[in-house]
Amino acid sequence: MELLEERIQRDGVVKSGDVLKVDSFLNHQMDVELFTEMAREWHRHFADKPINKILTIEASGIGIAAIAGALFGVPVVFAKKSQSINLDGTVYCTRIQSFTHGKVFDVIVSKKFIGPDDHVLLIDDFMANGCAMNGLIEVCEYAGATIEGIGIAIEKGFQQGGDSLRERGYDLCSLAIVDAMDPDTGTVTFR
Ligand code: 5GP
Repeated sequence: MELLEERIQRDGVVKSGDVLKVDSFLNHQMDVELFTEMAREWHRHFADKPINKILTIEASGIGIAAIAGALFGVPVVFAKKSQSINLDGTVYCTRIQSFTHGKVFDVIVSKKFIGPDDHVLLIDDFMANGCAMNGLIEVCEYAGATIEGIGIAIEKGFQQGGDSLRERGYDLCSLAIVDAMDPDTGTVTFR
């Protein structure tokens, strides 16, 4: 998606450790007009899928997923990062390794909000090694929900997450795929 690539070139900051900062339009300040264009792109891509729910993970997925939810006309559920798991059988729980914080944390989704009748579009801001997305996939599997597709804003194609999900047969729509980035020059190369 050209608009998103241009924005990354203009306002993205390449950090060491394979981190791209996009705080000025995605991860802190949110450019809602850009989010709307991104949602349109996903809506076009997944037009023939019977999506009735969007699932994302807090915090940065929520903004883009909410705008997509409005366009698709479906509810948006976000997986919550949890300090203390209440193992009373009312939630699905999975463990996720955080790329940006380097920690493992538990995430939960209430059994009330996802189930076998759901046809889910998974959305997140970034794809790196695929840990966050694999956690959401696991939740859908526990719930017996059907995964119709995955929408990612920025995939770092030099990391393994995206390609391994494609190999597993998921319909993955990444709006910008970064194939290389250099923290010394700030250069970002797209696929
Ligand atoms: P993964 O689980 O695929 O390894 O990493 C994806 C998650 O880590 C996303 O939810 C995103 O919040 C965070 N993340 C991964 N790489 C980056 C990055 O380069 N920049 C930012 N801002 N977040 C990232």
